[in-house]
Amino acid sequence: MSEARRIVLLGPPGGGKGTQAKRLETKHGWCQLSTGDILRKAIADGTPLGQRVKAILDAGKLVSDDEIMGVIGERLEQPDCAANGFILDGVPRTLGQAEALERLLAEKGTPLDAVVEVRVPDEMLMERITGRFFCAACKANYHDSFHRPKVEGVCDHCGSTEFIRRSDDSPETVKDRLASYHEQTEPLLPFYEERGLLKLVDGTRSMDEVTAEMERVLGV
Ligand code: AMP
Repeated sequence: MSEARRIVLLGPPGGGKGTQAKRLETKHGWCQLSTGDILRKAIADGTPLGQRVKAILDAGKLVSDDEIMGVIGERLEQPDCAANGFILDGVPRTLGQAEALERLLAEKGTPLDAVVEVRVPDEMLMERITGRFFCAACKANYHDSFHRPKVEGVCDHCGSTEFIRRSDDSPETVKDRLASYHEQTEPLLPFYEERGLLKLVDGTRSMDEVTAEMERVLGV
């Protein structure tokens, strides 16, 4: 368990934010807060939030800032995030969310410690995203080209034989998700640079190298 940290991970869809956030959570105890995971669970559970956002996720568009701030405000209040610190994965994604987050954390007296940009060029992302799939039981990540299960059709971790793909990982939707990233999320880079918080990590390297580089820039 490391000292509490409050970190934002920024980067394009398929850039490896989710994988890295999970690794940092396991190693350092910071709580991973993924708005994508929270929204997908709400959709799977058929909650009112899930019903409101389903069509937006399916189209690869962004959910409204108010809806997103409601989701993360609630999660940040929970004791694990408050005590151990957190890694925000997939949020903020617009300047409106970044400003709202800054106000929320200022009110609590717990500002961000760092924002890490995981940089990956567009041409690598389409193959990374459209090839990925997950174990339906334990959610372990796999990839058609880069990381297949050791025994075909059987999860390496839990032995399940059921796998799923994200419905928004189709090539058409990925194009829209990348466009949203460039238009709405990239302006956050200068926003955080001006605040002296931004650190850059090369996301094209192996998963282990990216984790090591993140730990280096975070000083842990
Ligand atoms: P992700 O798992 O981070 O790729 O998110 C999946 C989808 O959830 C996105 O394509 C958006 O439709 C929605 N979403 C997740 N986080 C946000 C956010 N911070 N702002 C707006 N929409 C979001």
